[in-house]
Amino acid sequence: MRITRLAAVFGAMTMALTVAACGGDDSGSSGGSGSGASGIVGKAEKDKKLTIGVKADQPGLGLQTGSTYTGFDIEIGKLIAKGLGVEESGITWKTTVSANREPYIQQGQVDIVVATYTINDERKQKVNFGGPYYIAGQDLLVPTASTITGPDALAGKKVCSVSGSTPAKRIQTDYKSAQLQQFDSYSKCVTALAGGQVDAVTTDDIILAGYAAQEQYAGKFKVVGKPFSTEPYGIGLKKDDTAGCNKINDILKAAAADGSYKKAWDDTLGKSGKAAADLDVSKLTNCS
Ligand code: GLU
Repeated sequence: MRITRLAAVFGAMTMALTVAACGGDDSGSSGGSGSGASGIVGKAEKDKKLTIGVKADQPGLGLQTGSTYTGFDIEIGKLIAKGLGVEESGITWKTTVSANREPYIQQGQVDIVVATYTINDERKQKVNFGGPYYIAGQDLLVPTASTITGPDALAGKKVCSVSGSTPAKRIQTDYKSAQLQQFDSYSKCVTALAGGQVDAVTTDDIILAGYAAQEQYAGKFKVVGKPFSTEPYGIGLKKDDTAGCNKINDILKAAAADGSYKKAWDDTLGKSGKAAADLDVSKLTNCS
């Protein structure tokens, strides 16, 4: 039942990796300048350790249970660490929320961020991005009986999202007649939806599908299934760490070729029955 429902939710989505995220320069060698000793390549070599910023409350993507983190982003983080020569025991997972990802990278509280993190020009002013390793799209989660069919039906409705996220910003700029309520994490929005305090939750389809499939919400919610943005997920790191960024893209290329990207999917989000998206390595960032 649970698997079938999640598969149905996924089935309604279009997530083809067809959109060029940021230029698609395919030069991607692990050379490059600008990292110096402070870059992730040097740090990983020297310390054999890496601190990775991830989400803690997004089922299927980044979920903390006790001291364990699971999900697709976690598996991608492990792949990157391994490619940098860092064993799983050398990884420190650090919980991030949407709004503190750039500051955590800038202040060195994390080495990289793998946290449903959309690559965009505004964020690229502050941080660099490897990837994209997945393309999501903004969607809506609503009660099963809701008549909301898309973002144009949000006028006068209470819609919940997360501060510092691209979906919250899009509601503010493109759907001004909606009443936006912001929390620091999506699970708080989902609790508000379950309690009837808001009419909809908006963020990436893949995140919403994870909440809809949770046992405690069985039969309560539906994902509308008409994505209205493109959210290419990147791996954030320090802005000047060009060599680190190129290395991340090289690791992703290798993971696409040797099946480990597909395995990361199959072990997590793929359990819903949805096939892994193709990692289109021609669309990786140029790291500049
Ligand atoms: N991908 C979007 C973003 O980076 C929404 C998901 C999130 O907030 O993590 O803002």
